Amino acid sequence: MSHLFDHYSFSKEYKKNQRVLSHPFTQYDAPLTHTMNFLKSIMGDSGFDRKYGVMLGSLRHILKGKEAQAILDAVGFSDESVTTSDRHGMRVNYLSDEQIKRAAAIKLLRHVYMVHVQGSTDIWVVSTPKSYQRFISKELEKTSSLSLMQRAKLEDVNEHFSEHQRKLIGASTNEARRLVAKTIMLLCMDRNNANSRIHRIVRRWFSGESVSAASVKSDMNKILAGLKKIENVINSNKLIFTDMPYLRTGNRKDDQYFYNSIAFVFGSMAEKIPIIYVEDAFFNASHTILGDSLHWTNTIIHEISHLILGTKDHRYRFEGLSPDHHLMPHEAMNNADTWSIFCLDACNMMTQYQKAYFNFGRSLRPPVAPPVPPKIPKVAKIPKISSKPGP
Ligand SMILES: [Zn+2]
Repeated sequence: MSHLFDHYSFSKEYKKNQRVLSHPFTQYDAPLTHTMNFLKSIMGDSGFDRKYGVMLGSLRHILKGKEAQAILDAVGFSDESVTTSDRHGMRVNYLSDEQIKRAAAIKLLRHVYMVHVQGSTDIWVVSTPKSYQRFISKELEKTSSLSLMQRAKLEDVNEHFSEHQRKLIGASTNEARRLVAKTIMLLCMDRNNANSRIHRIVRRWFSGESVSAASVKSDMNKILAGLKKIENVINSNKLIFTDMPYLRTGNRKDDQYFYNSIAFVFGSMAEKIPIIYVEDAFFNASHTILGDSLHWTNTIIHEISHLILGTKDHRYRFEGLSPDHHLMPHEAMNNADTWSIFCLDACNMMTQYQKAYFNFGRSLRPPVAPPVPPKIPKVAKIPKISSKPGP
C-alpha cells in the first residue's frame, strides 16, 4: 500500500494521541482540568465515543481567545521553564517532548467536531488548521522545538473544513444513510418477484440481462448483505471524515493520484477505524453529471463500500458500468461505483440521461454488436493418404 498509509494515516495519529490522553493530566487550570479529565476516554479503540462529544464544544469555549497560552499553561510550559542559549547567545525556550505530545493531544481534540446526522447517529469531522502540512503531532515536532513557532501553530484556528463544509458532510452522510436504508427495504420487499422494478435495476447494474431470475435473486442476497454492512458503518457513530494534510499543497508528485481523488480510504478497514479522507475536489464537483449533493452522497456510499466490502475501482460511472458491456458480472459485484449508483437508481434519484450515461458511458446506448460474419461452410477434411505400403 501507499507510503501515505505507512507514514501519515490518521489512525496512526489517533493511536498516538489516544495513548497520551490516557495518562492523567495534572497541570491544567480548573476548568481545563475538568474538561480534559472528562475527555480522557473520548478516544476509544474503535473510534471517538459520542458520550463525550458534547464536551468538545466546552473545550473550544475554554480555549477561545487564548488558544496557545491556555494549551502551553496546561502542559506546564512557562517562559522560564527550560531556557537555554542558542549558538548566537539568544535565549531560547524549549518544550520537552512530553509537553509537545500533550499539547498536540489537546490541539487535536480542539479541532474534532461531532456532527449530527440524524436520530442517534453522529459522525466526526477532524478539521485541523489549513496551514499545517502534517497531522498535529508531527506538525508540532517538525518545528524544531522552538516554542515561538509552536505558539503560532497552537494559536492557529483557521481550519481546513469550514463550518458550512462540515454541515455538508453531515447532510450528505444523512442522505447516504437514507438511500441505503430505502434500497434495503426495496430489496427485502420484492426479492421474490422476478418482474419487480428492483429486479430490473439489479440486472441493470449487477447481474446483466442474460442470466436467470434465480441468479438475479442470488445477487440480490449478496447486495442486501453488503448494504446492511454499509448501513452499520454509517450508524456506528464512528465514521470519521478528515483530509490528508500532507497532500494540501497539491504538489506532491508521487501522490497526485490521491490528491486528485475526490475522497479516498485505505480499503478493507486497514485502519480499523472507518476513516474517509475528503480531498479538495470533493467540494468542487459542480461540473459532474450528478450535481453537487448527489455527487457527495454517491461518494460517501462509494467510499464506505471500499472500506467495509473491500470493493475496487474496476470502472468509474462515467466510463459506463453495464455488466453486459463494460464489466464482468463478478467485477460489478466488486466495483465501488456500481454499489453507489445502484442505490441512487433504486431510490429514483437519477434522470434517464444520468442512468444511460452511467450504464453505457458517453454513447448513452448499448454498444452495437459487430456484424456477425457469414457462416462459411466447413471444408471437408481431406483424408490423410496412408503411406502404408500396399500388399
Ligand atoms: Zn474508489
